[in-house]
Amino acid sequence: MKKKEFAVIGLGRFGGSVCRTLSEQGMEVLAIDINEDRVNEYASIASHAVVADSTDEAVLKSLGIRNFDHVIVAIGDNIQASILTTLILKELGVEKITVKATNDYHEKVLKKIGADQIVHPERDMGERIAHNIISNNVLDYLELSDRHSIVEIVANDRLHGHSLLELDIRAKYGINIVAIKRDNDIIVSPLASEIIHKGDILIVIGADVDIDRFENQVVGD
Ligand code: ADP
Repeated sequence: MKKKEFAVIGLGRFGGSVCRTLSEQGMEVLAIDINEDRVNEYASIASHAVVADSTDEAVLKSLGIRNFDHVIVAIGDNIQASILTTLILKELGVEKITVKATNDYHEKVLKKIGADQIVHPERDMGERIAHNIISNNVLDYLELSDRHSIVEIVANDRLHGHSLLELDIRAKYGINIVAIKRDNDIIVSPLASEIIHKGDILIVIGADVDIDRFENQVVGD
């Protein structure tokens, strides 16, 4: 299978981190920034790094941007440049475009012009950290929709020594434990007979209201 090719436009904290991680994972990455220092910083990390203004259609064309499988637009505060870049990428027929949004207005415009994926790193991270602050038992949180999430919850004394069957979580709370992390192991789709240990990390999927009920009644502090 052909290796996927990525391009990251804008090498600030977010774009730089995306670029570095994709490269560490062995992906082909073209790193682009208007700022030469930033490009130099990534020259030895990405497969290729070029100084370019992504709002210039001719430049993007000459880089063959259309042939990349996935382009990530990580231009920070310059909303105008981010929107214009996305528009050009869309017009050139790039297969998948992910864009970092800075605010709700920016997000709305990006949706309208057809960005495939819009990320809001500060807001998303803020939500995850807030959930972790509210309950010490919640380690991580991923929003699936307005009303559904996947949450990592630490099992406490109240769950210790009980099997999933005894706890009857699915019937009582309407949520599913899809995996259990224990030490360095991960038990995917645990059986009803699986006994929970204190400190296990339960990966739970369900409606937010049901997860909240489970958290408050069963594992709440
Ligand atoms: P972050 O908040 O993720 O750190 P920054 O605003 O610091 O984001 O970084 C955005 C990057 O995007 C900067 O390195 C900037 O030089 C780059 N950038 C801004 N406009 C363009 C453009 N038109 N073409 C290419 N890169 C751009």
